[in-house]
Parts: sequence; structure tokens; C-alpha cells
Amino acid sequence: MGERTILAGKSRKRQLLLPIAAMTLGALLLLVGLAMFLVDQFDDTAVTREQRVVESGFAQQLRQFDALIVPQVNWDKAVEKVDRTLDMAFADLDFGNQLYTFDGFTHTFFVDGDERVTYAYVYGQHLDPVQFEPFRAVTRQLLRPIREAEARRGPIRPHAQGKGPITRPIQANGIARINGKAYVIMASLVQPDLGYVQPKGPRATVVINAMPIDRTMLNAFAARYLLDRLDLVAAPEVNRDRAYLPLKAPDGAVVAALSWVPRKPGTALLHAMMMPLTAAIALLALVSWTIVRRSAVIVDELIASEMRAKHLAYHDTLTRLPNRALLFERLRGLLAALSPRWPLLGMLCIDLDRFKEVNDTLGHQAGDELLKVMADRLRALARDEHHAFTARLGGDEFVLVALATDRDAIDSLAQRCLAALLTPVDSEFGRLDVGCSIGIAMIDGSVGEPSLALRQADLALYRAKARGRGCVTFYEPEMEAAFQSRRVLETSLRAALESSAFHMVYQPQVDAGGTVRAYEALLRWDHPEHGAISPASFIPLAEECGLILGIGEFVLRQVFAETNAWAGVRVAINVSAIQMRAPGFAAKLVQIAAWAGIDPARYDIELTETALLTDTPATNENFSVLKRMGFAIVLDDFGTGNSSLSLLHRFRVDKIKIDRSFVADLGQSIEAETLVGAIVKLARSFHLGVIAEGVETEAQKRLLIAAGCEEFQGFLTGRPVPARSIAEVLRPKQGEQRRA
Ligand code: C2E
Ligand code: MG
Ligand code: MG
Repeated sequence: MGERTILAGKSRKRQLLLPIAAMTLGALLLLVGLAMFLVDQFDDTAVTREQRVVESGFAQQLRQFDALIVPQVNWDKAVEKVDRTLDMAFADLDFGNQLYTFDGFTHTFFVDGDERVTYAYVYGQHLDPVQFEPFRAVTRQLLRPIREAEARRGPIRPHAQGKGPITRPIQANGIARINGKAYVIMASLVQPDLGYVQPKGPRATVVINAMPIDRTMLNAFAARYLLDRLDLVAAPEVNRDRAYLPLKAPDGAVVAALSWVPRKPGTALLHAMMMPLTAAIALLALVSWTIVRRSAVIVDELIASEMRAKHLAYHDTLTRLPNRALLFERLRGLLAALSPRWPLLGMLCIDLDRFKEVNDTLGHQAGDELLKVMADRLRALARDEHHAFTARLGGDEFVLVALATDRDAIDSLAQRCLAALLTPVDSEFGRLDVGCSIGIAMIDGSVGEPSLALRQADLALYRAKARGRGCVTFYEPEMEAAFQSRRVLETSLRAALESSAFHMVYQPQVDAGGTVRAYEALLRWDHPEHGAISPASFIPLAEECGLILGIGEFVLRQVFAETNAWAGVRVAINVSAIQMRAPGFAAKLVQIAAWAGIDPARYDIELTETALLTDTPATNENFSVLKRMGFAIVLDDFGTGNSSLSLLHRFRVDKIKIDRSFVADLGQSIEAETLVGAIVKLARSFHLGVIAEGVETEAQKRLLIAAGCEEFQGFLTGRPVPARSIAEVLRPKQGEQRRA
């Protein structure tokens, strides 16, 4: 697993976790934001309400001031002493002093119908009317509504005895800034209350009172309306911590403002809840954090298991080498990496030579062990090469790929592979001794498809194996053609089996006196184009593609059917190593023998050494069934294989057949005679029969007889012929026998 994969895993993790973390954080922020917003709304509403209460409270306060003055101005006596005439003593006593001392009005002025100031009383002193001047402007504004109301009221009729006051108060008030100080100003029209005294003219005297909005007034107001830190300021300010009520002059201009610290129930609530709220948010954050952490662990596991799955999908579990899928993926990269400096790509298809034997004789564990060691060796070899790597295709087949400058470099790499895999493996199962065959494809920039490269290397490997063990073969274009013709042959072989295009011929085996002792059954394929084809050219192919089992079954049926009636001669049948290795072979043979009704004691089964060498349970079982049924066993082509003496001993073979290659050399090399003599002696000492095949000349026969050979088979004594020719020969004999 490379660094790249780990980085990819990390970025995947970030992709998965970031949104979760961001969402959690977002939700928390939203919650806090919402709380703040609600607190603000709550506070704003409360402040607005409080402002309205203060506003109406202040208006009420002004009306109360007005009410204080009403008994003084709505009074017949006041009309008499203030409007009609001006009685200073009365004015001082009942207005200036009275209103100052008891009601707190610091200023009292009288303004007559012509807006002349006739009286001024300021802070308990009778002063010159000039003191009024600063109040003139605001007074003018207040007088306007008063004069209008006075005009609307009209003349006053005296009051009927015993009834209440005849006039309603006519007043106006407002706020004014005078000499930098805010004042409450009240204007009240002097009117009779009972009507016994009439005002002097159409416009009666108006009493002006003023009172500064000072600390005392503010404190009293604040106490009544429970306002915190009430102050008077020049104008409303922008300050979220305070509330303001603008105080306006009669013309609407803002003269001053009341300012106080408003009640904020939302904020208060927030303060009260701060501790539990903080705890709750902390808890929420903790929970979210835990969830994110947990998710991180789960995501880690998911990514790890995904990486494991990926590794599994791309690697062979036994050797941990890349598998076919990864091989192709990397090959594509390597093909793209071909450059003028590394113009070639060598692909080595490596197949272990005796792996099947190890697997079959020592078991799968030994096979696995061997594969692991071989994989390690190839891996080590690849490590020293440029851009090289090894993969396992399956079974005992490996691939080594490397960039190269030329063909020789790859050839030398292949030789190193051969040498490396030839070194025996010492394992707990003993010394494992295998080698390998190697097929090589040299790929240049013109081959774009990895599968094509593998196919070429595979074809070369096939050829290497066909040449024998431990061979290195480079791919040649003719291999493709050969492969194709093999494919054609295989197809027609299959068709031949289905259409029973096979028949048997029989070659006699004679003794020294020339008497036919037996016939060997030999298979022929009647090819529609090529005529009768020798099994030597198609049996190996049939063995390879599994057709041999079907063909073998045909042979047994055919031979038993054709030869059952032959008396006095034995019949030899060839059985392939593949058949001997097939688990159901013996059972099939039993079944066919019963079907044909033959006597097994009259039949030889010819096996090659390789058929016995593969010491699998199935082979052993098949062999012992053959023996038990009474078949004789002949070791065919003796001397070409391992010629292991232990085989002769272990499997109770009945006869050995000297291979025709030795017979062919007889008379030409002294070694051949020695060898044949030794084989015959060996057979004798094991009490086995011995026959020579491929005897073509009298000279060969003479030498064989001299060596002690008893039976002979070959063109000299008879070519293979169809069954019917033999049956004709045998019939008269049987007739004679019957007569005798
Ligand atoms: P084999 O069992 O060694 O059979 C003997 C081969 O030698 C036969 O070739 C035969 O025609 C040939 N032969 C006989 N006399 C002479 C001679 O004087 N000189 C030379 N040069 N050759 C001679 P054939 O029929 O082409 O069979 C080739 C091989 O195919 C056989 O070798 C056997 O291994 C295999 N085979 C033949 N029939 C069957 C069969 O029914 N089943 C199986 N499994 N294999 C068969
Ligand atoms: Mg034979
Ligand atoms: Mg033979």
C-alpha cells in the first residue's frame, strides 16, 4: 500500500468529516445567534414599551402642573386683581409667592392682551418685567392656542346662583430651553369662575409660569416611574445602553431629552441563564466533538477495510504479489513509460517445472511453501531492475516485467531467473527441487495492449515447455501461427471424437520362434484431409486439452469389443498417464470390462514411467484396481524416462518394453548393446518379462536374442493392421483347435 493510497485515504477522511464538523459548528453558532437575536428583540420591545410609558407619564406630569394653577387663574378675584387692575400685593401673595412656595414654579409672569408683561416674580422675588424677555418666544407660541380658545369661548355670562364654575380652564404648556436650561412652561388664561367679574377686554391677562427641569423634578419622576439613572440631556443619542424621550418645544423642535437606563428583561434573563446556558452549549459541543471523534475512528476503519479489500482485489493472497488485474494496470503505465532511453519492455512468463510433482507428492502445503519462496526470489530479482515488478498469474505461473535497453539485457535477466529458481528450497517438507521455463515477449512502443504482450509471452512459454525443462524462449511471430494450427487441430480432434473418426489397428508381438504371442492395439485417426494420422502427433494435444479421457474410453470399448473373441493371443492397450491420474478411471475400466465381458488376464496395460511417477492417491488406487482385476502391467518406452528401479519394485510391473530408440542404435553403437543387455538382466532379476519395440531388421533381432530378449515387436515381424485382418488369421486356428 503506497504513500499515495494513504494520502488518498486522508483526503477521503477529510471529505467525510469536514462537513460533519462544519455542520455541528454551524448549528451551534446558529443556536447562539438565535438566542442573541431573541434577547435583542425582547429587549427592544421592552424598551419601546417603557419609552411609551415615560412619554405618557411626562405628559401627565405636565397636566398636573397645569391643574395646580387652575384655582388661581379661574377665579373672579383674579380677574378683578390681575386682569382688570393689577394689585401687586395680591399678585405677590396669591401668585408669585404661592406658586413658588407651594408648587415650585420658579417664574411667574403676567402678559396682558397686548402682550405686555405687567408682572414678574422670579425665585421668590418681585423683579422687573424685563426678566420675562427670554421667555417671550416660547410664550408667543403658547399664546396662540390660548387666544384661539378664548375667542371660541366668547363673552362670559354671570353664573346662576348655586351652580358650579362657568368657565373651563384655558391653558397651554411646553418645554423650552432658556439660558441653556430646560424649563417646563405653562400659560394659563385668567378667567372668572362665577362670572361676577368680567375680564377687562376681549383678550384677558395670561399667567406664565416656568419651572426648570432639575434634579429634584427628575428624581421625583424617576421614583414614580421606577426609572434607573434618569438624566436630562441636550438631545437623544445613539446609545444602546440608554433609552431616550425627546422633549419638544410647542413648535416641535427638540429642546432636550430624558435619558435613562432602560430595563432589558431579555438581557437580564440571558445573564441569569448564562451559567446553565454555557454549560449546555459546552455539553453540546462535547457531545458533537465525541461524535466527530467516533466518526473519525469509524471512517478510519472503513478506509482501512476498503484499502484491505483493494489490496485483496489486486494481490495474490499466498505470495502477496500483484495479481493479473494489477499486472495489467501497471503494464499500461510501463507501456506509457517507454522512451528512447528505455525503448523496450521485457515480459517474462515464468512457469515452475516440477511444481505439479511437488504438489501431488508432498501435498499442497509444500506447494504453497515453494511458491512463496519462489515469489520472494523473483521479487528480489525485480528489485534490482529498472522499473521492474513481479506478478503471479495463478498456479505456478509468474510474470516478471522490466524496462530494458535491448534484448540481451532481458536475456541475461531470464538467465538469472533460471538460476535463482533452480536453487533447491530446503523446507520442513524436505528439499524441494524445481526449476522453471521462461517465455519472453519483447514489447516496443507499437504494442499498446497489455493483454497482447501477455499472450505473446505465454506462447513463448508454451514453446519453452515443449522444448523441455529449464528453457528460455523468445516469442516469434510463427508461434502465433503454430498456436492457431494447434487450435484448429484441437477443434477437429474434438469433432473426431464426437463423430467416431477413430479406429484401432493391431501390431503383432512375436517370440524368438516367430509365433505371435500378442497384439498391441494402436489408435488411428481417419482425418478427412490427411488420412490416417499417428497418435504420436495428437495424443500429447489430447492429453493437454483433456480429450484423452474420452479417447481412452473409446479405445477400451473398441479394443475389448474387437478382441474379446481372439483366442490364444494377448492384447496390449496403451493407457495415458493422464488417465491413470483421473480418479474415476479404474471404476470406468471395471464397468467397460463387464460390459464387454472380457477376461482381464488376457490383456496387458502399457503405461509409461511418468504414469507411475505421479504418486497421487488416484494413481495408486487405479493401479491397484488394475492389478486386482488381473491385468498385466507393461512399462512402455523403458529407458527414456527416469528408469527408477524403485518403480519396478513398488508397482508390481509384469513386463518392460525396451524403447525403440535403443533398438534403432543396435549394431551401430556398442553402448546400445550394453544398455539393452543391462535392461534384459535387470528384467530377469526382477522376474519380469521383456520385449523390444521398433525391431526393423534381422540384425537387430539377432542382437536382441543374443542379449536375452524374449519378444519382439516391429515392422520386421508385422505392421499394425485392422482387427478384421487378424480375426481372419485367428479363425482357422480356432477351427483347428476345436477339431483337435
Ligand atoms: P508406443 O506405445 O511405443 O507404440 C509403438 C509405436 O511404434 C507405434 O506408433 C507403432 O506404429 C510404432 N512402430 C511399430 N513398429 C515400428 C518399427 O519397426 N519402427 C518404427 N519406427 N516404429 C514402429 P504409433 O501407432 O504412431 O503410436 C505412437 C504412440 O502413440 C504409441 O507409442 C503410444 O504411446 C501412443 N498410442 C498409440 N495408441 C494409443 C492409445 O490407444 N492410447 C494411448 N494413450 N496412447 C496410444
Ligand atoms: Mg505402447
Ligand atoms: Mg513404446
